[in-house]
Amino acid sequence: MQLTFTKQQQALRDEVAAFLNEEREAGSFTPRVDNWITGFDRDLTKKIAARGWIGLTWPIEYGGGGRSYVDRLCMTELFLAAGAPLAAHWFADRQMGPSILAHGTETQKERYLPEILAGEATYCIGMSEPDAGSDLAGVRTRAVRSGSGFVVTGHKIWTSLAHHSDYIYLLARTDPASERHEGLSELIVPLRSEGVTISPIHDMSGAHHFNEVFFDEVFVEGDALIGAEGGGWRQVTGQLGYERAGLERVMSLWALFEAMRAEAGDDERRQEELGALEAAVRVARLLVFRAAAVADSGRPPDHEAAMAKVFATDIEQRMVELASQWAGRGARTGATFGGHLLPAWLIAPSLSIRGGTNEVLRGIIARRALGL
Ligand SMILES: Cc1cc2nc3c(=O)[nH]c(=O)nc-3n(C[C@H](O)[C@H](O)[C@H](O)COP(=O)(O)OP(=O)(O)OC[C@H]3O[C@@H](n4cnc5c(N)ncnc54)[C@H](O)[C@@H]3O)c2cc1C
Repeated sequence: MQLTFTKQQQALRDEVAAFLNEEREAGSFTPRVDNWITGFDRDLTKKIAARGWIGLTWPIEYGGGGRSYVDRLCMTELFLAAGAPLAAHWFADRQMGPSILAHGTETQKERYLPEILAGEATYCIGMSEPDAGSDLAGVRTRAVRSGSGFVVTGHKIWTSLAHHSDYIYLLARTDPASERHEGLSELIVPLRSEGVTISPIHDMSGAHHFNEVFFDEVFVEGDALIGAEGGGWRQVTGQLGYERAGLERVMSLWALFEAMRAEAGDDERRQEELGALEAAVRVARLLVFRAAAVADSGRPPDHEAAMAKVFATDIEQRMVELASQWAGRGARTGATFGGHLLPAWLIAPSLSIRGGTNEVLRGIIARRALGL
């Protein structure tokens, strides 16, 4: 696969690069590892929205940019390389908007899309539960029909950014008698609804990034249901393809990688190790672009997304290992590699868990790509 940018793509990249330079120089953000998912900055998101860079792939008639997924990667690559805080729009731009476009009614599109495009609505992902992570079909949160809507009762966990979000995109069981993949549906639940409780979970760095979300008889109107009642499983698997197939899976630790490039110096062994890492990063990038080309062909990437994510997160973890070896005892001080190694080290284990574990993704590759 040969990757060269078209004139239109290069023009977009030039515009994005100039914007990021201006913002960085104005001090609007400091590059950090994992900032796309932990850095929440509504002001920056609104500026990005004003440039038309949220919903770049969405149809023009719904206010989107009408461009390809490959074009979107040309753009997001620069945001990720800059280590910019993107969490205030990332999930909605990447997966909720496309899901509403694919499965929502015209009224729902008119209701939800404009506020995402304006950078005003933040969404979190309500899939995992205490006994339903890898085995997502084990979801037990219920949304039972009542009057004009649904009553939601249940418990979600590991919900990134719920404490900042306006809505949770919820996978729930609408048929209480159903089991496994049947009877699941997706609903948009405003997090400020009565009966919602959000409890923080602190990760091992002490940061508060994800949460538990409890639903105690939360009422939502019937139009909260997105897509077919009972058709949630098919919808959610499509979204997971978009969730897994982005460059964020290989560029979460870009600030560390750049610091490693700067610190390799003339040391031959380090240069060789860095060279091997650079080559692997380039392969991961190609796998991600290939998944975007699949999305452009009209179907969500499936095993292509799984392959990209396993390969990419494995490299990110190797990056941290290598940087730790280079740093030796200095790794503990927190000052090495521009201060990026310690946070990267604390984040590293989660890279191959969030969005689906590498073991589970290897199963998908085995079954759906290799037919085993
Ligand atoms: C930083 C972070 C952010 C997250 N954000 C969100 C979010 O916003 N929203 C959300 O819904 N979820 C979120 N998650 C949850 C994430 O999707 C789950 O943690 C993940 O899917 C694994 O599920 P689990 O934690 O229940 O582990 P389990 O499913 O219990 O897995 C435990 C171990 O068993 C292995 N295993 C399980 N099944 C198999 C199998 N069939 N074959 C081989 N091995 C298997 C797994 O690989 C893992 O090593 C987040 C997780 C993290 C770490």
